[in-house]
Formats: sequence, structure tokens, C-alpha cells
Amino acid sequence: MSKGITSRNDDYSQWYNELVTKADLAEHSAVRGCMVIKPYGYSIWEKMQAALDKMFKDTGHSNAYFPLFIPKSFFSKEASHVEGFAKECAVVTHYRLKNDGNGNIIVDEDAKLEEELIVRPTSETIIWNTYRGWIQSYRDLPILVNQWANVVRWEMRTRLFLRTAEFLWQEGHTAHATAEEAITEAERMLHVYADFAENWMAVPVVKGTKTPNERFAGAIETYCIEALMQDGKALQAGTSHFLGQNFAKAFDVKFTSKEGKLDHVWATSWGVSTRLMGALIMAHSDDAGLVLPPKLAPIQVVIIPIYKSEEDLNRITGKVDGLVKELKARNISVKYDDRDTQRPGFKFAEYELKGVPVRIALGARDLENGTVEIARRDTKEKQTISSENLADHIEQLLEQIQKDIYQKALKFREENITRADTYDEFKKVLDEKAGFVSAHWDGTPETEQRIKEETKATIRCIPIDNPKEDGVCILTGKPSVQRVLFARAY
Ligand code: AMP
Repeated sequence: MSKGITSRNDDYSQWYNELVTKADLAEHSAVRGCMVIKPYGYSIWEKMQAALDKMFKDTGHSNAYFPLFIPKSFFSKEASHVEGFAKECAVVTHYRLKNDGNGNIIVDEDAKLEEELIVRPTSETIIWNTYRGWIQSYRDLPILVNQWANVVRWEMRTRLFLRTAEFLWQEGHTAHATAEEAITEAERMLHVYADFAENWMAVPVVKGTKTPNERFAGAIETYCIEALMQDGKALQAGTSHFLGQNFAKAFDVKFTSKEGKLDHVWATSWGVSTRLMGALIMAHSDDAGLVLPPKLAPIQVVIIPIYKSEEDLNRITGKVDGLVKELKARNISVKYDDRDTQRPGFKFAEYELKGVPVRIALGARDLENGTVEIARRDTKEKQTISSENLADHIEQLLEQIQKDIYQKALKFREENITRADTYDEFKKVLDEKAGFVSAHWDGTPETEQRIKEETKATIRCIPIDNPKEDGVCILTGKPSVQRVLFARAY
């Protein structure tokens, strides 16, 4: 393990890249824009998946799996969808290679696919083509399906976890008999995502809707959760779409209602991706490394023996064995690091880098005094405490850390929502402080586009339950009925 990472103040983006690689979360691969997720990073993702999967099942959804490839013709069936994704599609054209006789492996031109296949950037088309066979009457509805999968979007500017060409995600695709039911579903999943972000990731989010410019290609309404990173940039952490009847019309999916009327089916889709890993890292971590909320930490407690002799180590190990059993019985994941190849100081730095929430150090003197040294990763506070009722103490401490990390992020978010009433003020906030800027906008895509071109800030969302307030657009001076949230974003 090499020591030290660039500090956030010196270069935030460098800090992030070094942290991701040095904490063994992920690394760049031989394929442009595609990453290797390493075991430690993947174990955090698995914890996210497990929590989300349970939330989806608790709200009535089941998992299924659809193909990686989508026939090109499917894509062209929904006009705005194809237009939105065309720029970033990977296309499969052949199904065989051959040896050219000179020892070179080349594409066999005789093995050209009759119809090209698109590597899925999202699965609405293949799924709605399938749903046509599943839905005839109102009795077949609703369909509440989710899939865990990888997708490919040929992104030009990539960054580990936050924006990769291939990413892992889940995509929910539901079918309903009425528009109201579909809207309720899209909103329900938005709340599920917000609940997950806040209660598991300890990342506060703003729930809102996207403007038409930022909407998912093919959606009537896109709901989103937006988080704020420590450098003051926003991150779209999850989206849920009300798709209306667009995909049902494109794929001819109709049902007979209770009243015997034939109508197109109403749709939603919703997804979160490995981008959440990026949000988790960027929201909490510091110059010493990762800070993980206990609920998502692969190792919640690490115990490090401090010893000089073999005999001391044996006595410490005897004491630790009991504690490990007690913690495991409480479903707390604990690691006893008794490697004799590394010194305690090295181990301390390593677990700090990896974001283990609680560290316990135990030496020969502690055994005599009936104490341990306990350190929390988030605040770096160290305390020597009695080893009696230690498991209780640790359990409570983990809960406290989970809450404190969230409160810290919430305080930061609250301090970084700034109101701006003129365009000069708006630009000044963006340049000096960043964060979310709450400002009036005249509601037109043209104004939004110009602000984006001139300041690189986009409208992150129109918050749900946004208070109505008369004002004038910061750019055009035209009337506006509400403020929206702008920010520079990842
Ligand atoms: P969308 O289908 O565009 O609504 O995106 C669904 C989810 O995937 C959202 O939470 C996005 O933030 C996330 N996402 C979109 N593009 C990428 C990417 N290139 N890498 C990682 N996550 C992404």
C-alpha cells in the first residue's frame, strides 16, 4: 500500500481518482471507458444491491432478465428514444472472426448479421416488445418487473463509477392500466431511491422533476434525486420515469379494460447505477481516505492487536475471540487483523483509507486495565474505554456514526443552497461557492440552454412540493412562478 493521497483542496478530481484506486475500489481497464470493479468495491456494491433489492421486493416487484442485445429496428420504433440514445450506441455487426492466412485474426465479412444488434443502453424497447405477448387484459396488469444488468452507453468523457461506458445498474419496467397508477408507481420508486440514499448511503437528496431538456428520451416526466458532492457539484443519483403510452404505442401493447374497451398500456421505468458508488465516495470521504456509512461498510469493525511478544498476542487473541463472537451474533461484520507482516501504524492507515467505521486497538496494558482503545473513522476521535459491555457500545456507536455522517452531509447541503436574484449574483455564486443555486427561470428550453452554455450550470430539478413564488427570470427578466435548482454537475 502506498501512503498518502492528494488532498481535496489541492485537486478534488485527482483526490477522487487516487482514492478510488488506492482504496482498492476500482481501476481503469484495457477497454476505454470501462472499469474493473475490485473485490472491495464490489462488496460495497453488493450491499447496495441487497438493500435495494429488498426494497423493490417489499414494494411488490420481481426480478427477471432480458437479452443484452436489441435488434436495431426496435430502437427506431420510438422516435425520441432512438434520437436520445443514437449518439452513444455500441453496434454488433458480425458474428465470426477468421484467420486471414497470414496469422492475423480479422472479421469474417461472410458472417455479417442480417440485422445489426445494439448492446442495450437501456431496455425499454426489448422489454415492451416482450410485454406485447404478456398483456391482453386488465387481469394481466400491473406488471412490476426489475432487472439487474449491465448496460453500455458510449460516453466520451468517462470517470470511474460516475460515468463509464459500461455500467452496472437495475432497471425497473412496469406496465399499468391507467395513467394515475403509472404516475403513482414512478413517484413511489422515487421515494424508494430517496429513502435508500438517505438511510443507507447517508446522502441527503433533493427529490424533483427534470425540465424537458434533461428528460429521459421517450419519457413524459422524469423524476430524479439530486445529491451534492463536497466540491459543490451536483450529481444525479437516480431517475424514475413516467413513460405514458409511448412504448405501448411503439410496440403495439394493448389491453382490454374491465369495461371491455381496448387501450394502450401505461409505463414507467426507473434505475440507479454504479454511479451511486461515486456518490457515496464523494459525499463523505476525506484526505485520509474513504468514510463509509456503517450500513454499507463491508467491514464495520476492525480489531488490531498491539503486542511485542508471542505470549502477549496469544492473550490478546483469547480476549478478542469472545468479542468477535459477540459482534457476529449481532450481525456486525468484524475483522481481526493479527497479521504479523505489518506494523499497527500501517494497519491503522490502511483501514482509514478503506473507510472502516470503527477501529479497536488492544494491547497488553489494556488487558491488565480491562480497557480498549476505540477510534471512529468519521471524526477520527479516539477514546480509551472499559471492555465491559463492549459489544453494546460498538453497536450503539455504529448507529450513531450512521446518523452523524448523514447530519454532516445534510448540514453541508443546507449551507450550499444559495438564492440568487440576478444573473450577476448567480454567476458569482457558481464561481465562488458552487452548490445548488435557487433561482427564477422563465420556463423555456432556450433560456435553460443559454444559461448552460454561458455558465455550465444546468437545472438539476424542479423540487417536488416547490413553493410558488412570483419573480423574474435571472436571464430574460420574464415572469416566473417558482424557483428551480441550478448547479454545475457531474
Ligand atoms: P437514465 O436511464 O438515463 O435515466 O439513467 C438511469 C441511471 O443511471 C441514473 O441514475 C443515472 O444517473 C445513471 N447513469 C446514466 N448514465 C450513466 C453512466 N454513463 N455511468 C453510470 N451511471 C449512469
